[in-house]
Amino acid sequence: MNNLIDIKSMTLDELTDFIVDNKFPKFRAKQVYGWLNKNISSFEEMSNISSDLRNFLKTSCYISVASIAKKLVSSYDNTVKYLFEFNDGECVESVVMSYKHGYSICISTQVGCKMGCTFCATGKSGFSRSLTPSEMLNQIETAQNDLNVRISNIVLMGMGEPLDNFDNVVKFLKLVSSDNGLNIGMRHITLSTCGLVPQIYDLANLHLGITLSVSLHAPNDQIRKKTMPIARKYSIEELLKACRDYFKITGRRVTFEYSMISGVNDSDANAKELANRLKGMGCHVNLIPVNTVEDTGYIKSNIKRQQRFIEILAEKNIAATVRRTLGSDINASCGQLRRNHAKEGGN
Ligand code: SAH
Ligand code: SF4
Repeated sequence: MNNLIDIKSMTLDELTDFIVDNKFPKFRAKQVYGWLNKNISSFEEMSNISSDLRNFLKTSCYISVASIAKKLVSSYDNTVKYLFEFNDGECVESVVMSYKHGYSICISTQVGCKMGCTFCATGKSGFSRSLTPSEMLNQIETAQNDLNVRISNIVLMGMGEPLDNFDNVVKFLKLVSSDNGLNIGMRHITLSTCGLVPQIYDLANLHLGITLSVSLHAPNDQIRKKTMPIARKYSIEELLKACRDYFKITGRRVTFEYSMISGVNDSDANAKELANRLKGMGCHVNLIPVNTVEDTGYIKSNIKRQQRFIEILAEKNIAATVRRTLGSDINASCGQLRRNHAKEGGN
């Protein structure tokens, strides 16, 4: 944004230093921070801030926003899907789901994705840019304000690969869990990755206390390479070692995502091989019948296949559940809404 500073990506400490360094009184920092947390879009709205400071902020900073470009509400289960538009016109998707224990939001971390998984609508639409910390925060704030609810859980499972935007994601995690901000605890946050091994170690060493979820989607490299290009860079052995080490370093077990694709990764032999690989990890496997994305030719595994897969894993003491598909009438799988919006002539 024309060399302007992204003020909403600053922590309160950073903002305080910035304000003091520019010869404004220190107490103003908390006031400005308070306004930024109110989801405002211009410095004019900061009514109790001196015009000197407002003018200074206007010439040196910008306030990032996520405005609602589209909103779909599922008639089945009240799942809400948003297409948010940022200051530069780029769009991402977020989904708000309501559970017995509260509201959960699935947010995006990038506009598009570089990883190119063959079953994924986001992967198919290419990569535009990574999101700033404030843009991740704004997805939650705008959704909360729009729905008038408090969101208690966050999953980083929307568009993009969070570990390919490592520094901004870590900064976002610090901002969102801060008691000066939305104050959502790290234990209520899950990050999903397609398996960038070095960054899994970097994340472990930060001891943040979040849950790590790894998208495995195959029991071996041969099948994984067919659907996930990242498998050509890191073998399943290396990836699972990183997951074991993540547990050793952080004390938190990794969960696995496994999209079941008919005839690709859902045979009895695939289940047995997966069980052997995961033996002794005490992990949980989330099975997701693959959502059909146009042009992929993939079909979801039928219910009988899903049940048999679970049985085989259970025989080997691996806990697995089929993830409830929420918002199935509103394209709730990531990347589909933006893809359709782009086809209609939007971003
Ligand atoms: N890039 C990260 C997080 C975003 S994708 C990752 O890949 O983990 C979030 C989850 O949705 C991943 O487990 C991904 O594999 C899964 N996913 C993507 N497209 C899907 C589809 N068409 N059907 C089912 N799951 C899908
Ligand atoms: Fe990217 Fe995740 Fe989609 Fe793969 S599944 S293309 S890593 S968003």
